[in-house]
Amino acid sequence: MEKTREILKARNLKKYYGSGESLVKAVDNISLSVNEGEFVAIVGTSGSGKSTLLHLLGGLDYADEGEVIIDGMDVLKMKDEEQTVFRRRKIGFIFQNYNLLAASNVYKNVTLPIRLDGNRPDEAYIDMILKLLGLEDKKGRRPNQLSGGQQQRCAIARALIKNPKLLLCDEPTGALDSKTSRDILVLLEEVNRKFGTTMLIVTHNNSIKYMVDQVVYLKDGRIERNYRNEEKVPAARLEDL
Ligand code: ADP
Ligand code: MG
Repeated sequence: MEKTREILKARNLKKYYGSGESLVKAVDNISLSVNEGEFVAIVGTSGSGKSTLLHLLGGLDYADEGEVIIDGMDVLKMKDEEQTVFRRRKIGFIFQNYNLLAASNVYKNVTLPIRLDGNRPDEAYIDMILKLLGLEDKKGRRPNQLSGGQQQRCAIARALIKNPKLLLCDEPTGALDSKTSRDILVLLEEVNRKFGTTMLIVTHNNSIKYMVDQVVYLKDGRIERNYRNEEKVPAARLEDL
């Protein structure tokens, strides 16, 4: 697939915290362009602004200044409720700590976004997603009855259930051992290929940059380097995960 249609554009994004002596320029004038179907890694040391940037792109937090255009829509200009619905339909989120509902089983967690929209789940589609993520026999389990890797797969299933245009992942393998990390990355790669989902993955793991199309290096809230990776290495063959 040719990846030339711009699906995400950020222009001059800024988010500062504090003031005076304690001013932190968490995101300091960042501009970015991502084409449909691209797999993007945002890398940088802890505190470089990765999570803040991802939150601004996904509308989980407000920018002080700048623009975010997703699928042609100026997200920051939308009214609150309109933005919430837009986000729920177009964007999936995956976090380091999974963010699952502890009292709900896998099935309930995964179908939550559908139920929030007031729709009835399409059981065939849900089965396909659960199968893809190897959770077909775990539907009735609650998060505390799952391993870390299974919990993250459940979170990925939930993020995919609405077939989002954009999948935003914040350190998705940060809490996992290296073998489980690889399994999760292989799955994300498969999702990217199979559904053409555009993905941004925030990481401080230096190996992940080899498996993506575009790499964005952050330092002190700014883009230090941004390049397209011509020769991707499949997650299955990455070293030092
Ligand atoms: P990363 O995800 O790369 O580790 P963050 O985006 O979480 O970095 O943080 C970037 C900088 O902004 C850090 O210096 C952090 O302490 C600061 N920061 C993040 N969130 C807040 C907040 N809510 N209040 C004050 N400072 C914050
Ligand atoms: Mg972070």
